[in-house]
Amino acid sequence: MHETALVKNLVQKLQAICTEEKADRVVDITVWLGALCHMSPDHFSEHFRQEAAGTCAERARLKIESSDDINHANAQDVLLQSLELEMDDEALQ
Ligand SMILES: [Zn+2]
Repeated sequence: MHETALVKNLVQKLQAICTEEKADRVVDITVWLGALCHMSPDHFSEHFRQEAAGTCAERARLKIESSDDINHANAQDVLLQSLELEMDDEALQ
């Protein structure tokens, strides 16, 4: 449940950003996995693909950095490091 919630929160955050920025979709995303978040990069990708299906992040290229620092303040979290959005130019006309 913990891991599902982490990924869900992240995808919700991405959707909020897309809406706010009026972006068409997420092209690239870099995430940071804390040492205690209990997800390997592969496992994270799997969950991400499930949760992102049908959202603006559906086809995002995923880059994952995993930390092994168990004393890090965010060791239990998944953090959004960077994001590249594609704007829907036609919507701006
Ligand atoms: Zn799982």
